Amino acid sequence: MTDNRLKVSYAFDDVPIQFRYDGENYEHIVHEVLKQYGFDNAADYQAHYEKKFKKDEAPLIFIINRNFRSFARNIESGAAGSEFSFVSFNDDTDTCVRTMIHEVLHQFGAIDYYLPDTVKQTAEKLFPESVMLRGWEIDDLTRYIIGWDKKLSDKAKQFLDETSGVTAEEISEARELDKDNDW
Ligand SMILES: [Zn+2]
Repeated sequence: MTDNRLKVSYAFDDVPIQFRYDGENYEHIVHEVLKQYGFDNAADYQAHYEKKFKKDEAPLIFIINRNFRSFARNIESGAAGSEFSFVSFNDDTDTCVRTMIHEVLHQFGAIDYYLPDTVKQTAEKLFPESVMLRGWEIDDLTRYIIGWDKKLSDKAKQFLDETSGVTAEEISEARELDKDNDW
């Protein structure tokens, strides 16, 4: 394990928009919010902050004070050129912060550990405290995926071995059935 320190800058904008939000019509919110700053899309907004703060990446998180299932959109989920997360904030600060970390990690490629069953069981055995499952820890495999560690640990290798049979279909089926977790 290496001692990587992150140099993080952040910008927080509080944008009061009146909106009905049910977790579905998020593209409209993205558009409305970015329009207030004079940007057409998330990629332009992020490029602005990358330049301003001289950083490689500028994850964009929309925190909305409504109860819905949080999620991240990235290239893998088919949103080319528009990467961002939506996090539900309903008075529970700890959960909100944990979810922010979880969703930002998705934007750097991290995967969910709570589905399908094979993945969940393996994660509960090897990375029970991972933020990609239910805890606060940045586990070995996640560290590797997001680029903190250059080498896979034995534990991370074991995780990959034990879940190597999982298919994309299994994952999407499990996601359809899953109603309890943030994505
Ligand atoms: Zn997730």
